[in-house]
Amino acid sequence: MSGSAQYQDGVAYVGGKYVPIAQAAIPITDWGFLRSDATYDVVTVWDGAFFRIDAHLDRFMRSCQRWRLNPGLSPAQITRILARCVRLSGLRASYVEMICTRGQPPWGSRDPRQAVNQFYAFAVPYVWLANEEQRAKGLRVMISDVQRIPPQSVDPKAKNYHWNDLTMGLLGALDAGADTVLLVDAVGHVVEGPGFNVFCVRDGVVITPDQGMLEGISRRTVIEMAAARGLSVQIRPVPTDELRSADEVFLSTSGGGVLPVTVVDQQSIGDGTPGPVTRQMVETYWAWHADPAYNLPIDYSV
Ligand SMILES: *Cc1c(COP(=O)(O)O)cnc(C)c1O
Repeated sequence: MSGSAQYQDGVAYVGGKYVPIAQAAIPITDWGFLRSDATYDVVTVWDGAFFRIDAHLDRFMRSCQRWRLNPGLSPAQITRILARCVRLSGLRASYVEMICTRGQPPWGSRDPRQAVNQFYAFAVPYVWLANEEQRAKGLRVMISDVQRIPPQSVDPKAKNYHWNDLTMGLLGALDAGADTVLLVDAVGHVVEGPGFNVFCVRDGVVITPDQGMLEGISRRTVIEMAAARGLSVQIRPVPTDELRSADEVFLSTSGGGVLPVTVVDQQSIGDGTPGPVTRQMVETYWAWHADPAYNLPIDYSV
């Protein structure tokens, strides 16, 4: 059945069954839908292997705990479900999402403790946050005046679907002709964008925000790659002016790894082309996909 026509666009795991992605549906009364009361994580498959799946599962289990959600499955059981979604699809490069929702409390109750939490998953073709041209030339980014939802309201370190700030910021940036957006915190430091972290390079030092954002696994990979390449890394607040006047800017995400940024608020960064540190990080990111330490190959034969 692996890779058969009905599954090639993707496979979902819903209600304990594997179905073609187009047929996957959740009950309209699930609080995951009605309240954005859910958490999730995304792991990628490249060349038929999961990349850093242990880190993603660790973060997913921590996010579940943070929101008092219980997927009812161990990391090993989740791995088997995700692998089966990928295997059925036959995809060698895939974007794999695991989700735990609140589910629904008994009818009439508004007590979240009475809800039966639900686990869903799906595997679809690999998702790039930037197309080929954008990856070659660099993205044009706008810094929005939309403030990221404060950590005191929704903990940004646990993945969540409270994305209205990110989505409204993105719409504003797209309307203004940019490719994507970065949001700021209450004091005007850059934090993150819709599904990615941000880095800048100044005098050879790699700098990324320390708070107010999700700690991406790709962000961690960049920090480790920079250290492995002998670059110094600073994890600290990044004022918007510091980003605008940086030598290089790039984003990190499971949706494409390291993505160069060459324009911020209509001003060129450096000479307007992806800089040397950015290019080194892109190259190393993909090289590490061949390192067995970070890869769990999927058996497509069963
Ligand atoms: C998932 C996500 C990221 C990036 O995390 P990765 O693990 O690197 O993919 C950054 N910001 C937000 C808000 C996210 O949801």
